[in-house]
Amino acid sequence: VAKKQRNTYKLYSPLMNDVPTKELILENSMLDALETNQFMLHYQPKLELGTGRIHGVEALLRWKHPEFGMVSPLEFIPIAEKTGFIILLGEWVLRTACLQVKQWEQMGMDAILVSVNMSMMQFQQKDIVASIKAVMSEVGVRPEQIELELTESIFMENPEHTLQILHELQELGLKLSLDDFGTGYSSLSYLQNIPIHYLKLDKSFIRGIVTDIRKQMIFKSLIVIAHNLNMKVVTEGVETAEELQIIKEHNCDLMQGYLFSPPVTPERFAELVRSVNAA
Ligand code: C2E
Ligand code: CA
Ligand code: CA
Ligand code: CA
Repeated sequence: VAKKQRNTYKLYSPLMNDVPTKELILENSMLDALETNQFMLHYQPKLELGTGRIHGVEALLRWKHPEFGMVSPLEFIPIAEKTGFIILLGEWVLRTACLQVKQWEQMGMDAILVSVNMSMMQFQQKDIVASIKAVMSEVGVRPEQIELELTESIFMENPEHTLQILHELQELGLKLSLDDFGTGYSSLSYLQNIPIHYLKLDKSFIRGIVTDIRKQMIFKSLIVIAHNLNMKVVTEGVETAEELQIIKEHNCDLMQGYLFSPPVTPERFAELVRSVNAA
């Protein structure tokens, strides 16, 4: 019984002669990690296909853990969401990204739109708009410089309220993206009335597209729909020249993927912008 309980509920007590799971160690060391600068942001460029210029960049969270080394956000974000730590961590991400924008600006870099991922739980905070506004004005960045990447999960609870918040954020001047479109239960109905600027097609969309004509047709149609709704389309996870060729043929606006660049350090990103956008 005890064993079953442990497995089911991941209970741990030091009295049990047992090793804590990695998950539990991560959960318990997050606050300390934040305070000791173990978190950092890496940046992945978004390339504008029409011009070949770097148009924006996505901030992606990294955790360099003293025991486990680099831990993937796919592993620790769900834990942070479960415990509520994501609120604190998410605010740190936004502030750090804003500070980075400021620093790049001071280095004389061209204006680049920086996007930050937001999880549903952050979005559900009562004062989300005010707190985003507070961070931006504290750091001194304009809302036009920042983009928020949101997934459809924000509509799971109280969709009317979510819509209201999206409108407020848009009125503030922030750019909004619908992330991971094409995964899970994506529905075109979301696209009807949400005020978003960018539709990000998930990488599962592009995988196999070179040989799968039906996938290509869906891809092509989605781009037409998005364009008719005044949205720009970003294809994520572009890894090969053949994939790039196809998304260009179908008039996709932007691409993000290893083919152009993986997520890199802020220094490396600045170099990339210098060499790509100056050319
Ligand atoms: P996402 O928002 O969909 O981010 C894109 C992910 O795809 C990133 O993984 C990126 O490194 C990866 N990627 C980019 N290009 C390619 C490619 O060509 N091929 C493949 N196979 N992958 C590519 P990463 O950095 O591991 O992040 C995973 C997820 O963790 C993100 O997915 C996002 O959901 C979450 N995440 C990351 N940072 C944050 C954050 O600051 N806040 C929140 N709430 N979630 C975050
Ligand atoms: Ca994202
Ligand atoms: Ca995504
Ligand atoms: Ca994702």
